[in-house]
Amino acid sequence: MSVLEKMSSAEAIALEDKYGAHNYHPLPVVLSRGEGVHVWDVEGKKYYDFLSAYSAVNQGHCHPKIVGALVQQAQTLTLTSRAFYNDKLGVYEEYITKYFGFDKVLPMNTGAEAVETAMKLCRKWAYERKGIDENEAQIIVCDGNFHGRTTTIISFSNDENARKNFGPYTAGFIKIPYNDIDALQQALKSSPNIAGFLVEPIQGEAGVFVPNEGYLAQAKALCAASNVLFIADEVQTGIARTGSILAVCGNCTCENACEKQSTYVAPDILILGKALSGGAYPVSAVLANDPIMNVIRPGQHGSTFGGNPIAGAVAIAALDVVNEEKLIQNARRLGRIFREKIGAFVASSNIATLVRGKGLLNAIVINDTEESDTAWNICMRLAEKGLLAKPTHGNIIRFAPPLVINEDQLDECIHIIISTLEEFEK
Ligand SMILES: *Cc1c(COP(=O)(O)O)cnc(C)c1O
Repeated sequence: MSVLEKMSSAEAIALEDKYGAHNYHPLPVVLSRGEGVHVWDVEGKKYYDFLSAYSAVNQGHCHPKIVGALVQQAQTLTLTSRAFYNDKLGVYEEYITKYFGFDKVLPMNTGAEAVETAMKLCRKWAYERKGIDENEAQIIVCDGNFHGRTTTIISFSNDENARKNFGPYTAGFIKIPYNDIDALQQALKSSPNIAGFLVEPIQGEAGVFVPNEGYLAQAKALCAASNVLFIADEVQTGIARTGSILAVCGNCTCENACEKQSTYVAPDILILGKALSGGAYPVSAVLANDPIMNVIRPGQHGSTFGGNPIAGAVAIAALDVVNEEKLIQNARRLGRIFREKIGAFVASSNIATLVRGKGLLNAIVINDTEESDTAWNICMRLAEKGLLAKPTHGNIIRFAPPLVINEDQLDECIHIIISTLEEFEK
C-alpha cells in the first residue's frame, strides 16, 4: 500500500505485525497526528495522551517552537559529525550547562547511550582519579531499575524478560534495594572499589516508586563521604515532569540555576534524554563538572550523531519552552490536584488501591495480580473513552500527560479515569 492512501487501524496494525519485530505489545490504537495534549488516530478519533511517549513529550505534541527550530535547522545544516566543529554545538553546550549548573556536557542521542556514557565516564574517573585498580571498579545500582536496553544495562536489570538469553552479562555491578539507605551504606563499605551509585530519583518503569523524603540527599552524602560518584538518571523524571526541573531538586521553585536551592541534591553526573527534545528528535546528554568530564580525551568516546546541529537547536527550544510556559509550576500544581481527586476516589474503591507520584508523573495501583489483565482491560476502556495510558508491570497504570495540560482538561481526564475505574469495581 502506498503511504499516500489513507490507512485503517486494522491495516496499519497488520503491517507492523507482519514486517516489524515483535519487541513491543502496543495498545491497538494507530495514531497519525498530535497537537499539545491530544493525539488523533487514523479514523480521526481524538485522545488525551497520558503517556507522553514515556515522558518525552512534556512540552506537548508538535510544539510549534520546537518544530520550528527543527525545521529551520534541518534546512540549514543537519549533520557534520564531530570530525569538524559546527556553529550550533558550542551555543547549545553553553546553554545546557548554564541551565543545569554544570561545567560540561557530553551530547548523545538516546537515553541508553547517555547511561552507557555516564558509566564509562564513572569507570574512567575511578581508575584515573580515585586510583581503583584496572578492571576492578564496581557501580552500585538498585533493584527494579530501568536504565535502557543495551547489553551492559540489561546485565544489571531484575526484569527477566529484559535479561533472559541476552547473556553473557557485563560484570562490575552491585545491586541493592531501592530506597534503602542502610543497604547503600553497607554496599559502600563492602569494597574499596566502588566507583559510582547509579539511581533513578523516582523509579518510573518500576511503577512510579517515589523514595522517602531525604533518601536522595542522604545517598548523595554517603557517596561523597566514600568518594563515590552519585549518578542521577533523570531521563524520565527530568525536564519539569515531577514539578521541578529535575527530580533531585526536591521542592525547589526555581526555573533553572538549581544549584542555588537548598533542597537540590547535586548529582556528580546527570543523565538526561526524552523530554530534552520535547519528543521531536532523539537528544540525550551527560553533564558533569571538569574534574570528572576531563578524564575523557579525544578518540575515547563518541557518536556520529551526538551533538548534531539539529539536536542542539531542538534542545535549546525545548528547554526554553519549559521556562516560557511555566511547565514546572503547572506540573506541580496539577499533580497535586490529580493525586487529591484520584486519592479521594481510591479511599473508597476496591479496584484501585493507591495513587502515588510527584508532579505529573503518577501511577494508580490496580487491585489485582501482576499477571492479571485487569489493568490492560482498564487501559483499553480508557482508550475507548478517549484517554491513552499504559500499564507498567501488570497491575500499575502510569498517568503522565504532557505538562501543557490545563486544569479544565485535567478535570475532564480525572472524570474519565474515575468513571472507568467505577465500571471495574467488584
Ligand atoms: C527511557 C529511559 C531510559 C532509556 O532511554 P532510551 O531513549 O529509550 O534509550 C533510561 N533511563 C530511564 C530512567 C528511562 O526512563
